[in-house]
Amino acid sequence: MVITVASVLAIIKKIIDISIVWLMFYIILKSIRNSVKLTLLFKGVIIIIVLKIVSDIFGFTTVNLLLEYIIMYGPLALIIIFQPEIRNILEQLGRNQLLGRHKVLTVDEREHLVYEIVQAMDYLRKNKIGALIVIERDISLGNYIDKAKKIYADLSSDLLGAIFYEGNPLHDGGVIIQGNRITCAGAIFPTSSSQKINKRLGTRHRAALGIAEETDAISLVVSEETGRLSIAIKGELFYNLSLDDIRMMLIDELKPKVASEYEEELEEEEIYEEDN
Ligand code: ATP
Ligand code: MG
Repeated sequence: MVITVASVLAIIKKIIDISIVWLMFYIILKSIRNSVKLTLLFKGVIIIIVLKIVSDIFGFTTVNLLLEYIIMYGPLALIIIFQPEIRNILEQLGRNQLLGRHKVLTVDEREHLVYEIVQAMDYLRKNKIGALIVIERDISLGNYIDKAKKIYADLSSDLLGAIFYEGNPLHDGGVIIQGNRITCAGAIFPTSSSQKINKRLGTRHRAALGIAEETDAISLVVSEETGRLSIAIKGELFYNLSLDDIRMMLIDELKPKVASEYEEELEEEEIYEEDN
């Protein structure tokens, strides 16, 4: 046998071909393991394929005809059988788009967001209601949202006030904000073990810092004991701030990245011009 480049390539092609088929089988088997419906479907498809091959070999025309009908209308039946699953997937897609994890807020929306949050914090601190509000940025907080109580509501200061109200079963834990919506309440975050944090501060403040250490989220805290306001950003907790500080920091931190980079460039240019 002569070994040519073409024959080696052909063998490699076959190996890749078979590997892809095995990989597909592996992925399918792995993903259907937890679903009874999918396991049954998989078995059904295998049986139909085997039957088709057997009936082709032996020339069973009636069985063949029947199988052809099944193969023709099968996909339609699948859509009906898997309608709930398909709807779930579509809903999830729609929801992500609707809530816009990465939805870029307009200037008005951003101002409104900051206004409502600041209003809520003012109300909460005056009434000594403890609160933890976490604003998602680029890094997903999906893991925390999954385990929390979903809300999916337009953000308003009244709603924030109501959520943290003592009598409300959702008041424990934190609220997560995505875009300009409240996604969930009762979220539990990792508590920071930082030594830098004030010894008098408890788990609410540590949770606020914890999530700001782990992700790029902004977390806001209203202390139940003192009514003091704090903010945790990029692994740092700024304690006992005024409402104005909070407003300024929020406006600054919520600026879209491109815009703030552009502004920084402008500032640099101005400095440069002043120097010359
Ligand atoms: P405060 O000044 O409001 O008393 P604190 O920092 O002293 O705050 P705690 O008194 O321990 O904290 O506050 C307890 C509350 O903090 C809980 O009732 C709960 O709502 C919230 N909390 C505690 N741990 C977490 C956590 N891991 N994730 C989210 N929220 C938490
Ligand atoms: Mg406390």
